[in-house]
Amino acid sequence: MADYDYDLFVIGAGSGGTRASRVAAAHGAKVAVAEEYRVGGACVIRGCVPKKLLIYGAHFAEDLKDAKRFGWQVPDQCDFDWKTLRDNVLEEVDRINGAYTQTLETHGVEIIHQRATVTGPNSVRLADGTEKTAARILIAVGAHPAVPDCPGAEHGITSNEAFHLDALPKRILIAGAGYIANEFAGIFHQLGSHVTIMNRTQDILRGYDLSIRDRLLQISMMKGLEFKFDANFERLDKGEDGCLTVHMSNHEPVTVDMVMFATGRVPNTEGLGLEEAGVTLEKGAVVVDDQNRSSVESIFAVGDVTNRVQLTPVAIREGQAFADTFYGDKPTTVDYTNIPAAVFSHPPMAGVGMTESEAKQKLGSIRVYSSDFRPMKNVLAGRNERALYKMVCDGETGRIVGLHMIGPDVPEILQAAAIAVKAGLTKAQFDDTVALHPTMAEELVLMK
Ligand code: NDP
Repeated sequence: MADYDYDLFVIGAGSGGTRASRVAAAHGAKVAVAEEYRVGGACVIRGCVPKKLLIYGAHFAEDLKDAKRFGWQVPDQCDFDWKTLRDNVLEEVDRINGAYTQTLETHGVEIIHQRATVTGPNSVRLADGTEKTAARILIAVGAHPAVPDCPGAEHGITSNEAFHLDALPKRILIAGAGYIANEFAGIFHQLGSHVTIMNRTQDILRGYDLSIRDRLLQISMMKGLEFKFDANFERLDKGEDGCLTVHMSNHEPVTVDMVMFATGRVPNTEGLGLEEAGVTLEKGAVVVDDQNRSSVESIFAVGDVTNRVQLTPVAIREGQAFADTFYGDKPTTVDYTNIPAAVFSHPPMAGVGMTESEAKQKLGSIRVYSSDFRPMKNVLAGRNERALYKMVCDGETGRIVGLHMIGPDVPEILQAAAIAVKAGLTKAQFDDTVALHPTMAEELVLMK
């Protein structure tokens, strides 16, 4: 190890890279992390954190309307100032960015604020031309939004820019119908924009349980969001008035003030020198084994750049497992089963384990329980929005193999329930638990 500048050189100070750097350093390794943008990565700087804060901000639109039914005198037209929300959110991002930086520094990790590229199995080059060597290199560079290859695509934005807008658009078309599309559709709609979602297939949120995503589609349409399915971009024209006209297959052109692409994310491996160093990539993602090791003995990767499960908590686990395995004498592999996930749409949805159709395919015999109800708060508010919880069980053993929910606060509820699913509990064990009344979560132990 003494022959190298560092025991570990990490490229990318996002969720996975930061955790790996900090833990490896705590285990006694000499660590440097290179970051070309801001410490914290997509989640903190332009993803989960600011998005969730915007969702809180957007939710007030409905809360203020509902407040009247609960006796509060609220003017029919409440004023909303986008710049106040935007700037407060960005200020909070700065605070967390500072906290991340401080954590690395207090653990003795050297932060290099430059782009680094790989030049060999044990060497990297910094943007200023300096070469550094390390016994191991960890690639934790994340991913960036994919933008479809169509004429005029340069006029659109991605979620990266959405956090910095000068003003909200009156009309926005969001391309894609996955996590980011549905979350931002909720934000823009609540804040007063007319939202159109277009997707190349007929599905929103592929991978989630069909009944749950159908419910989101139904509620979204009821709220006034428009959907264009089976639609592929043909071209995007910018008019003299600044408006954008989107030409797509199977539909009339749509004219809007803003177009946002939310059509997946691409690993940030271009120009990183990985293939030249012998690292195998697949569709741009670093191929790794269960120890996060690439095809090169000394080069590892964690997080979105590996395109396994693109979720922050998973990247953090991978970073922790890598550091514990190689610097803490504690070999650890990440368990990818029963990972809970949520879409912070409006209303949010969340799920863990197998969907009903997956379970049917894999297990053959299953039992499905559900609760389709109108949350008490919605009833008094006169809001005709129903929640839906679905439990999928192994038909032989009664073990819960999937839990899927849509409705107010379901990500909060599902996180706790996911522990029970992960622990292999049965429907009968849920039913043994007395309901906590009156809550929405009590439906979990009352399902029919
Ligand atoms: P998703 O994979 O969720 O959705 C992508 C959407 O774009 C799908 O509707 C897909 O269509 C469509 N699409 C994909 N490729 C193309 C293409 N070439 N042309 C046109 N449409 C296309 O990606 P997102 O961008 O929404 O999010 C990226 C990732 O970030 C997610 O996978 C998720 O893991 C993570 N994320 C997680 C969040 C959370 O945990 N709450 C929040 C935000 C992001 P179809 O499926 O019909 O083929």
